[in-house]
Amino acid sequence: MSLTQHAHPLVIVGSMGLDNVQTPLGEVVNALGGAANYSAVAASFFSRVALVGVIGDDFPQEHLDYLRSIEVDLTGVEHVKGGKTFHWSGYYDFDLNVAHTLDTQLNVFADFQPKLPESYKQAPYVFLANIDPVLQLDVLNQIEAPKLTVCDTMNYWISSKRDELVEVLKRVDIAVLNDAEARQLTGLMSTVKAAKAIQALGPSAVIIKKGEHGALLFSGDDHFSAPSFPLEDIADPTGAGDSFAGGFIGYIAAQDDLSHNTLRRAVVYGSVMASFNVEDFSMNRMRRLDPAEIASRYSQFRDIAYFEALEDLAL
Ligand code: AMP
Repeated sequence: MSLTQHAHPLVIVGSMGLDNVQTPLGEVVNALGGAANYSAVAASFFSRVALVGVIGDDFPQEHLDYLRSIEVDLTGVEHVKGGKTFHWSGYYDFDLNVAHTLDTQLNVFADFQPKLPESYKQAPYVFLANIDPVLQLDVLNQIEAPKLTVCDTMNYWISSKRDELVEVLKRVDIAVLNDAEARQLTGLMSTVKAAKAIQALGPSAVIIKKGEHGALLFSGDDHFSAPSFPLEDIADPTGAGDSFAGGFIGYIAAQDDLSHNTLRRAVVYGSVMASFNVEDFSMNRMRRLDPAEIASRYSQFRDIAYFEALEDLAL
C-alpha cells in the first residue's frame, strides 16, 4: 500500500497537557503543551497525524478545535469525564538548555490504557513521544507492521521506569534523546559512547539533541551533525525536543523513504521546527508559521554548515 493510501500515515502517542512555564522572557499558565501535542503540530506541516492520548474536562475546546483545524485526527484521544488533564509546571534559568520541573501531575494519564482505533493500526510511521514507557509499549503492541518506529523519553521516566524504557528501546528503530538524558540512561559521559551504547540496546539509529547547539545522528556507522541556528532570543524552550521529533518523523513519513540522506534531511527539518518553536511560548509560533518560512530556514541551515572541499581550495 502506498503512503497516500494510508488514512493515518503517522501515529503519535504521548502527553497531551496544560503547562505552566516561566522563562527569563515571560510566563504562561495553563498553556497548550504536552509532548504529543508539540510533536503533532510540528509533524502536521509535513504529514497527516493521528493522535493517541487522553484529556480531562479541563482541556479547552479551543485546543481541540486548533488540532482539528490542522487536520490532526483525534479519534484516538480519550476524554475522561470528571478527570483532570496532565499538567506540567517548570521554569528555565539563564541556561535555557535545562528545564527545571516544579510539578508533574499525571492525572488522567495515571490510569490510561490506550486502545488504538482500527484505522490507526496499519500506520507505517509511529512516534512514541514522551510519556510513561508502559503506554509507549501498549501502543507498539497494537500497531501491526510499522515501517519506522521512533521514541523519545525524559529524565522522569529514565529514573522511575528504567526497565520498561529499555524494553521500548529494544523494540524501536530510532531513539531521540537529549545529551543529558543519554548520559543519565547509560552512565557514560561521552555522547558518542552513550549513543553507541543505546544503539546496542536495540535502535539502529540514535539522535542526540544538544539543545541550542544542534543535533547528532548516529545511524548504523553513519554519523551526521546538524548545526545550531543562531537565534538571538529564545522565548521558551519548552517543546523544542518534541517539535524536533515531530519535524523529523513528519518529514520521513511524507517522503516514505528511510535512506541515510532522507534521515539527514529529516534531522535538519527537525532542527528547523525546533528553532521556530522556541521563538514564542507554547505553540504560538507554530500557529503563525508559514511553510515558506520552513523552506527558507532549511536553506539557512545549509548555508551555516557549508564549507569548501579541500580540492576546491587554491592552496
Ligand atoms: P520538551 O520537548 O522536552 O521541552 O517537552 C516539553 C513537554 O513535555 C511539556 O509540554 C510537558 O507538558 C511535557 N512533559 C513534561 N514532563 C512530562 C512527563 N513526565 N511525561 C510526559 N510529558 C511530560
